Formats: sequence, C-alpha cells, structure tokens
Amino acid sequence: MTENPLAKTPIVMTIAGSDSGGGAGIAADLKTFAAFGVHGTCAITSVTAQNTRGVLETFDLAPGAVASQIEAVCSDMKIEWAKTGMLASAEIVKEVAKQVKKHGLSLVIDPVIAAEAGGDLLRKEALSVLIEELLPLCKVTTPNASEAGILAGIPVKTFEDAKLAARKIADLGVEAVIVTGGHLDASDLIYEPASDTFTRISGTFVSGGTHGSGCTYSAAMTACLAREDSLETSAKKAKDFVVQAIQRSMPVGRGVGPVNPLG
Ligand code: PLP
Repeated sequence: MTENPLAKTPIVMTIAGSDSGGGAGIAADLKTFAAFGVHGTCAITSVTAQNTRGVLETFDLAPGAVASQIEAVCSDMKIEWAKTGMLASAEIVKEVAKQVKKHGLSLVIDPVIAAEAGGDLLRKEALSVLIEELLPLCKVTTPNASEAGILAGIPVKTFEDAKLAARKIADLGVEAVIVTGGHLDASDLIYEPASDTFTRISGTFVSGGTHGSGCTYSAAMTACLAREDSLETSAKKAKDFVVQAIQRSMPVGRGVGPVNPLG
C-alpha cells in the first residue's frame, strides 16, 4: 500500500478570538498555518465585532463551549502543538489550562492583552490567571514589548529592558521567551532559561499594515515547531514571514490594514 503523504502533515490548533474584519485572531492564524503547509484547527474563545479601526464589541464564549471545541478536535485528530491568542476571561484561561494538561499539548502563548487599534481583549482579572496558571504550561511565549512589560511588571523601552523582562517572564516557569521587536529596534530577542542564553534575531523596520502581526508571528512559530524546526530556526522563519506579510498588506478599510499571510 502506498503511504499517504498527508498522513505526515502536522495538525495544529489555535485557541483564540475571531475578528470580523478578517485581520487578526483565527483569520490570521489559519491563513498562516495554511501558508506553512500544516493543517489548522481552531477553538474560538470570543467573537469580536471589529474592523480596521478598532474593536467595537466582544462576545466571550462560555468556558464549556471552548472546552467542547478542543475536545471535539483532540478526540479525533492528533494535535501536538497549539497556540493561544485572545483568551478574554479568567474562566476561559482556567479551562484552557485544564485542556492543555489533559491533552498534553505543546503550547505557544501569544499573550494578547489589548488590540493595537484599541479595545481590551483580556479582562483585568484574567491577567493573574494567565500568569499563574497558563504561562507555566507553555513551551514558548511571544510577547511584544508592551505585553512583556505587563507580564514582567516593568516598562520595556529598550533592548536591555527586554532582556530583564524576558528573565522575569522565564521565572514564571516558561521554557522560552521571545520578545518580538516591532516596538524596539526591529530585532527579536530569544531567552532560553535552561542555558541562560539570549539570541538576537536582527531585522529592519518595514512599512505596511500591522494588524494581526502578533497573531501571524505566533502562528508561524507554532507551525514551524510542529514541523520540528529548532526554536531559533522557527523564530527566524516566523520573523521573515511576518515581514513579508506586512509588506504584502492590503489597504482594506480606513484604519490599520491587516497583514497578508497568504501573498
Ligand atoms: N486576537 C484578536 C481576536 C484580535 O482582535 C486581535 C487584535 O485586534 C489580536 C488577537 C491581536 O492582534 P495582533 O496580532 O495585532 O497583536
């Protein structure tokens, strides 16, 4: 019998919000998974009424609805790697932590807190639950500078601040921290506490729409890790991919244009 090559295609999952404008959240994640040739599945946490100018309303799902989506997929398909984006509420964060443990998922956390164009995507009381219950379960977290500052409790304005913040975040029990540099000097910083090493992935600023860039980066990391690339190779590929997605962004809407992961 000939082997079906699709049998080797990694299957990954995004646990995140939807964006009615088609820019961020699961729209960005699923497009990115497709671009990397992995099969993407999704568990929606919150439905956002949103366009390129901002988030108008959010409708958080019940934690049981999130659990049911994860159960449905994991009872049928072999998911090794998953990522989280917008988690909305403390109850959803707790449920996701339970599901990650139950299904032994290798997790990438994009610690989504607020939308760039405005709008809270994680309730205030959910932040401590994310820090205490979910972050210690992840393999990699990919905060941008402002998210790293919030998680670490210090302002992150320079590359040296990012190093300090990465150490503090790793102390929460995370295996690898990548502070993405769109807001610093365009370099990304990888910190691996096991070997106490910092690696800088250099880059240059590019112009274009950036809505969904954090989602796209963490989805690309997840896809590359599922394809068994090393952490550093995954980070380089994810960075290159986001730069191209920003350069290809389309001027849809009147606000910040969405990245274009599919070319
Ligand atoms: N997830 C959802 C559902 C969002 O609406 C947003 C931003 O609006 C994000 C995540 C974060 O987007 P970004 O990738 O730009 O950080």
